Amino acid sequence: DIPVITIDGPTASGKGTLADVAAHALGYVVLDSGSLYRACALAADREDIDLNDANAVAAIGANLNLSFKRGRVWLDEDDITDALRLEATGLMASQVAAHPAVRAALNQLQLNFRRLPGLVADGRDMGTAVFPDAALKVFLTASAATRAERRHKQLISKGISANIESLRQDLENRDARDKNRAASPLHPALDARMLDNSLQTIEESVELLLNWWAE
Ligand code: C5P
Repeated sequence: DIPVITIDGPTASGKGTLADVAAHALGYVVLDSGSLYRACALAADREDIDLNDANAVAAIGANLNLSFKRGRVWLDEDDITDALRLEATGLMASQVAAHPAVRAALNQLQLNFRRLPGLVADGRDMGTAVFPDAALKVFLTASAATRAERRHKQLISKGISANIESLRQDLENRDARDKNRAASPLHPALDARMLDNSLQTIEESVELLLNWWAE
């Protein structure tokens, strides 16, 4: 049985960083499931498909030609690494993620990431829907103010100017959509460990996770 650790939580809670560092420490594979929703939305948008058309977007999702090379993400022949991270792409991702048919298509891709020696998967429904048998499930949260501040720092470091208040508004809107949708809404699994990292460094969160894993 291939071990899985899931990390779910709201936007900009630090799931990706925690997943990367923990996977590196354990030598495990990482799945950033949000990037699949983002890539699917980008691919559909590029083909001028209406993002409300669940079946058309799901068909795109089922045939996504994605590759991960040298830390970059490619869609067909295009390097979409930067486009993937845009806030607008996150919003489109959350729009297509509400369609059950799209989720079904992308869940198939996600299951393929379960490879030896183990997997760390981050997203919204990793512990509740995609890997319900995961040995450790973490639900990561942080206050909206903290999350907006972190997103702001990230953008500034890339030379992109942004307004904290509007960032906070954006992430709260996206969380509301992710929590209120009918298909796999964002919520902690019954057996999830809750981790609020508002006042923690990454090192402290990683240590906590690895201690849980060693229990
Ligand atoms: O985590 P990230 O911001 O990249 O996710 C983008 C969007 O994709 C989320 O707002 C959510 O709507 C969707 N998503 C999802 N299920 C996942 C991962 C992401 O619905 N497992």
